[in-house]
Amino acid sequence: MTLHRIAVDAPLWDALDYLHARTLPRGCLVRVPLGRQNVLGVVLGPAENSTAPEASLRAVSEVVSAVPALDALWLDLLLFAATYYQRPLGELMAAALPTWLRHHGAAAAAKRVIAGHQRREPQAFRLTPAGDAALAQQLSPRHVALWRLAAALGLKPLQASGAPNAASTQAIIQQDAAPPPLQLDAARRLHPKAAALLRDWVVQGWVDAVPDAPQGRVRNLVHSAWPQSPAPPALQAAQQAAVDAVCAARGYATFLLFGVTGSGKTEVYLQLVAHVLAQNPQAQVLVLTPEINLTPQLVQRFAERFPGEQLAVLHSGLAEAERFDHWFAAHSGAARIVLGTRLAALASLPQLALLVVDEEHDASYKQQEGARYSARDLAVWRARQRGIAVVLGSATPSLESWRAAQRGRYRLLELPGRASGSLPAVRLLHAGQDPLLRQGGLIGQVLFDAIEQRLAHGEQSLLFLNRRGYAPVIRCPDCGWLSDCPHCDAHLVYHRTDRSLRCHHCGHRAAVPRACPDCGSLDLQPLGRGTQRVEEALAVLFPQARIARIDADTARRKGAAQAGFAQMHAGEVDILVGTQMITKGHDFQRVTLVAALNPDAGLFTHDLRGPERLFAQLMQAAGRAGRAGAPLADIAGHAVAPSSAPEMVVQTAYPEHGLYRALVAHDYPGFAAQELQERMHAGMPPFSYQALLRAEHKRPDVLEAFLAQAIELAAAISGPLACGLMVYPPVPASLARVANVHRQHVLVEGGDRAGLQEFLQHWRSALQHAKARVRWAIDVDPTEF
Ligand code: ADP
Ligand code: ZN
Ligand code: ZN
Repeated sequence: MTLHRIAVDAPLWDALDYLHARTLPRGCLVRVPLGRQNVLGVVLGPAENSTAPEASLRAVSEVVSAVPALDALWLDLLLFAATYYQRPLGELMAAALPTWLRHHGAAAAAKRVIAGHQRREPQAFRLTPAGDAALAQQLSPRHVALWRLAAALGLKPLQASGAPNAASTQAIIQQDAAPPPLQLDAARRLHPKAAALLRDWVVQGWVDAVPDAPQGRVRNLVHSAWPQSPAPPALQAAQQAAVDAVCAARGYATFLLFGVTGSGKTEVYLQLVAHVLAQNPQAQVLVLTPEINLTPQLVQRFAERFPGEQLAVLHSGLAEAERFDHWFAAHSGAARIVLGTRLAALASLPQLALLVVDEEHDASYKQQEGARYSARDLAVWRARQRGIAVVLGSATPSLESWRAAQRGRYRLLELPGRASGSLPAVRLLHAGQDPLLRQGGLIGQVLFDAIEQRLAHGEQSLLFLNRRGYAPVIRCPDCGWLSDCPHCDAHLVYHRTDRSLRCHHCGHRAAVPRACPDCGSLDLQPLGRGTQRVEEALAVLFPQARIARIDADTARRKGAAQAGFAQMHAGEVDILVGTQMITKGHDFQRVTLVAALNPDAGLFTHDLRGPERLFAQLMQAAGRAGRAGAPLADIAGHAVAPSSAPEMVVQTAYPEHGLYRALVAHDYPGFAAQELQERMHAGMPPFSYQALLRAEHKRPDVLEAFLAQAIELAAAISGPLACGLMVYPPVPASLARVANVHRQHVLVEGGDRAGLQEFLQHWRSALQHAKARVRWAIDVDPTEF
């Protein structure tokens, strides 16, 4: 019996020891008993000398041999992420492996893997060394068909007399040492029950299901009904320079590809991927994207450009089993192109040769619960680990990446201007001076005129604001009562469609009261504006227009958002209203007007990244206007080209603000310089490194006592504290109470990442020993407060 160290699927900080009859390779997937459950585990290696008492040691329940072992680089990634983000190894493992594997055993996995191979062609099997040994011992020469099957798989005869004397098998046995993998069709001809036998042998680890040969006819996991695209366009000079720079890089390098929406970044990714795949028939590339459902065109463009390639797509919207299939395609190397959201940053990619992070500034790359990793940062880490290139693309890079590029740590590649079409002019509509807005309207005069012009030309307008529902709060004008959530420090949002009040944080729902609960006034009024209210106002202002709304409410029905976007693309909508969901990714050909209704809130948040996010969002939204370059032919029957110049209107009370000035000038570098200046003076990232201790509890006194203790424990860690670490007093989280749970955090800041890491290790372990009753977690490089 060999003792193994195994990371198990449970929020445990350390790996556990288990026995198994033979020595299992590192990275091998197993199922092990834990308490009364049977959970997934990954073998980290042999256990040197176990601390557990001999009698308490348990055995591995089964080996998931249908899934090849995870490689050492992947294990190192897992260990790094657990250490850096101060999370239990088991938790990271659970986040990194497909959930389906956690719920299914070895036999189910083998079945699924083989079924996956049957969906594709060719399906082939090969004997493993373990299978060679086992079958040679167990097979009796009397079972002629079985013996033939094993021989065709590569089983070597022990002694000539042991083999059946049928002449036909002799031919097979006398082949070279390693025969080509046995196709399932051929196996069926040798043995009627070949499929079931092979599945069983795969479970036993005697046979490997061989991944599809790249040159074989593979059916895409991404069901591609898309027409094949014409040849790739000739790159413009700046695009070519970017492609050349990345291709010329030897070893690790991070590139920041900076270019506005429509400047041709995606085209650069496509041609880079083509280059890398052409260089090496095994190479894999990973392309990360913020939200796949909002960027279906990205998947589509890759599917079109690489029709012969198997594409794997990893995101949380897939069904469990489906996600396993895609994960396995990446893990087995069958899929050479892997597209995915942040969770794909942890995918197993044994032949990874290039990473791309599109919209690298996007907040969704940071996981906000459990293991709070940053997918972008892990992508950079993986590139360094492998000594390969990673390309971060954005029109509005994160200030961290921008500064790294300025300091020469990242290499800046710039795409000036748009590949086709032109950038919209940005107009600021001064809310305080607009007659319509001053009368309480939602749409100012300039915007009204602009929409009317689009309607007259048969063009589309896109209006967005960051509040769904009808109004953010209901107010009593007589006594000042506000519709607050009884469980959270937040207002209940008024939803007109079902006349309900809803909390967007805890889900609490209530009917709109007939009268003010405090003073009995019957004059309750909606305050502020949400998407529903804007939609209603537009219907009154433009009765002839076809208006649609897309936000989290309308998107709740499966496929509803997709249907809405499709209508928009088909030209069946004149005005689209929505939240920021509608500002991302989509390439609307007939949109010539984009409007932001009161985005000012982002200027004055206490969140240090508020302005950065607002700027990025507005630039992104601006990118939705004027995508069409050449005159449009025949979209939904219209043969006319858009005749209005692309335009963006921002309704704001602060038209003098530096952020809006930079927006008007399309000047990201200017905006970044302003912001970096402020961050430097305040000593904030990227000029320092941060971590949060987040804690929550139903009772504020218990919470405060814990955080006071945490501060004491921090003070006791003297070494690193001396080298410039600041531990701030506890403060309430920006949403201080959610569903009756109080939330506070302690900020730690320092000028040196390694010093902060060292401190966090000590602090975390001290906090663990404190055995507090509160829920707490450390958030490294936090992006939300
Ligand atoms: P981004 O990713 O920066 O938004 P895209 O790569 O999507 O930009 O390019 C915007 C549009 O311009 C797309 O329709 C794309 O097909 C087209 N395009 C990109 N590069 C070229 C080029 N070199 N020649 C012609 N069209 C191009
Ligand atoms: Zn009242
Ligand atoms: Zn609530």
